[in-house]
Amino acid sequence: MREEDKDFAEKDGALKDRKMGARKVGFKKKVCKFCQGAAPADYKNPDMLRRYITERGKILPARITGTCAKHQRALNREIKRARVLAYLPFEKK
Ligand SMILES: [Zn+2]
Repeated sequence: MREEDKDFAEKDGALKDRKMGARKVGFKKKVCKFCQGAAPADYKNPDMLRRYITERGKILPARITGTCAKHQRALNREIKRARVLAYLPFEKK
C-alpha cells in the first residue's frame, strides 16, 4: 500500500467513526433491570409487569426492553400467569 493510500484509509476510518458516534447520540445502553437487582418478575405485581407489555397487552420483546434472555423467560411466564388471573389483559382491541 502506498503511503498516501494508507493516509487516506486512516482518514476515511476516522470519518466513519465520527459518523457512528453521531448516530449513537441519545442512544442509551439497555441493561436488564432484573440483573441490576430489581425485584424479580412476579404475577402478583401487575403494575410492574405492565411496563413490559404494550397498551394492547402484548409482551414487549427483549430487544426493546433490554431484558436478558433468562429474565425475559421469567417475565413471560409471570405475564402469562397474571393474564390467567385477569391481572393483565390477553388482548385489548
Ligand atoms: Zn437479567
